Formats: sequence, structure tokens, C-alpha cells
Amino acid sequence: MEIKRNILLNPGPATTSDAVKYAQVVPDICPREKEFAGIMGPLRDDLVRIVHGDTDEYTAVLFCGSGTICIDVVLNSLLDAGKKALVINNGSYSQRACDVLDSYGLPYVELKQPLDDIPDLAAIETCLVDNPEVSYVYVTYHETGTGLLNPVKEIGALAHKYGKFLITDTTSAYAMIPINVYEENIDFCMASAQKGIQGMTGLSYVIGRRDIIEQSKDFPKHSYYCNLYMQYEYFERTGEMHFTPPVQTIYAARQALVEYFAEGEKEKWARHQRVMAAIRKGVDRYGFQEALSREVQSGLVAAICYPDDPHWNFDEIHDYCYERGFTIYPGKMQNKGTFRLCALGDIDAEDIDEFWKVFEDAMNTHKISMPVTYDR
Ligand SMILES: *Cc1c(COP(=O)(O)O)cnc(C)c1O
Repeated sequence: MEIKRNILLNPGPATTSDAVKYAQVVPDICPREKEFAGIMGPLRDDLVRIVHGDTDEYTAVLFCGSGTICIDVVLNSLLDAGKKALVINNGSYSQRACDVLDSYGLPYVELKQPLDDIPDLAAIETCLVDNPEVSYVYVTYHETGTGLLNPVKEIGALAHKYGKFLITDTTSAYAMIPINVYEENIDFCMASAQKGIQGMTGLSYVIGRRDIIEQSKDFPKHSYYCNLYMQYEYFERTGEMHFTPPVQTIYAARQALVEYFAEGEKEKWARHQRVMAAIRKGVDRYGFQEALSREVQSGLVAAICYPDDPHWNFDEIHDYCYERGFTIYPGKMQNKGTFRLCALGDIDAEDIDEFWKVFEDAMNTHKISMPVTYDR
């Protein structure tokens, strides 16, 4: 069976290999059989290995859900009575963390920072000094809405200096940008199979310190389904997920991990960087402006400003490209019109070269002048 290859330039789910797609086609199996449970342990260890954790100290806890389930789980499960969270809010994904805490009615300190620049470390330190009841610091590793890369290592060092632990949402960096939990002072991180490992949707994982998870056993419970300790304890005792796992997605994830380790951490990151270099080549060729300076970008997402051309209409350009197998995505900046081109997934520089040809045809068809123009 021939499967059409689409190039997804949206920030996940990402383009997958055919082998990952086919890995889902398996005989029906009850996930409570030993045969199925037997693939979960090695999968969890592999997920810890990706961020160079020692599996005696760090563990991966799997959840059936999209990436946001991990944000929900860590925030609500790791806060003891009388303690507060500290959220560094500089983008839509850290805003999501605030929304999660609000929806549980949990206390937190919100440190708002600019969306388009790295956060002020001195302000974070002041915040830690002023709020001794904070127990964990939360920061998004890579703000996917804008492409901003946060200085997690430095923020983690500050958190540790004041006796707090660090939670970071690595969903859009994990298995792409090389991450080392020890070097970057990370106590908890997270991801989803549809992004960095180039798997399917529906499986997400929290990777974090066993000792802190063990301590959280006695923390107040705010959710029944989304509780980290409960899922961890069940895994440790039985080797299985507490409730029905996403069976086919787990088979796909296993294949995706085989491909991840075969490609290699450095080589994979080099490929994503090649893809971004090809994206930037087109950005520069057509005179597009980006919302963020390249020095502060992750190198995985380009947030491109809409040109001030009267003919520009994102939806028309999107539809033209989409019909030809290329998916582009709107941006996430409040008062700036942007669209995003992302370097995730099983794609390489040639795919981007093909994309720019189609994009140029779309611009010509819709009579947008090139190089594009801006009034500012
Ligand atoms: C994709 C992503 C998520 C998860 O989003 P879902 O739509 O729930 O899969 C969380 N955080 C970041 C930074 C992301 O890029």
C-alpha cells in the first residue's frame, strides 16, 4: 500500500516514516497480556535515555493523551499543601500552565516576561527571594508559538540555588535539540510521541525524578485520572498503565525510537538544523521578516510576519500549499499577524526546497509582489 507523503510544517504532529505508520498495523491484542506489558518497560527506559537520565534516578511515566496532559499532570500532582508554583510566562504554552493552575484553583506566582526575548534572570531570582513558599519553577523549554528558546539551564540553576525543583515543558524540543537533564538542571520534563520522536498522536510522557515522585505520594490529590504518583506507582508495581493504553500508538512509538537511536542524537539535530537553514533561505530570498531575532530562536520554528501586501491572505496561501501536500500553520502572537514554518518531523532540506517552489507559485497565483513588502 502506497501512502501519500505529506510535508507537515506545522508544529506537530509531524511527518512520520512509512515504517512508523505501518508499525500500527498489528494483530489485535489485549494490552493486559504480558506480551504487550513487556514492551512498555524498555520503551520507558529509552525515553529516559534520550535526555541522558540514569534510570535509577529518573523515570518516564506514560499517559494516554495529547501533550497538554503532561502539563496538567505535573502541575497538579507536584504541589504540596501550603506551597506555590512559579510560572515564567513568556508565551502561549506557559500561559497554558497558568490556565491549568487556575482551573485547579492552585496557588502560583506568575512572572510575565516579553514574548520575543529571553527572560530576565535577575527578575526570576528576585521572584524566588520574594516567594519562599514556591516549591517548583515552571518554564517552557521552547515556546512553540514564537520559536523562543528559554535559558533553561540557567533558570534551573537558580531554582536549585533556592531549593526548588525545575519543571520544563520540553514537548517541542525533546528528541530534537539534545537535552541532558543533569547539565541543564532539569528535574521534570515532558513530551508527546507526535513531536520529537516522530511517532503518532495519543501517547505523552513525563520524565522526572523518582525521589520527587515518591515524595508526592502524600501531596493533596487534585485529579483522579491525571495524577503522576498514581500512574507511576501502578507502572512500578505491574509494568502497565493504570487504564487502557493507546495500543497502536505505542507500537508506532517503539518503531520511532528504533529510528531515533539509529539516526543518532547529533545527526538528528543536524538534520533539523539543515531543514531550518533551508527554511531561512526562502525567508531571506522572498524578503520576509521574522517576529523574533534569530539569536533567540530554537531553530525549530520560524514565526514569519505577514507582509503588508493588500493581496496577502494566509488562508489562500495555506490552501494552495495544502492541496499540494505542504501544510503551513498560523502563528500565536497576540497582535502580530504571523505564520509558522517548523523543522519537526521526518523531513530534510530537499523537502523545504520543494516547498518554497510551491509557495512561490502560490504567491504568484495570488499576485503577491516578491520580495514581499512591509510598511514598517
Ligand atoms: C505541542 C506542544 C504541547 C502539547 O500540545 P497538544 O496539542 O496537547 O499535543 C505542549 N507544549 C508545547 C511547548 C508544545 O509545543
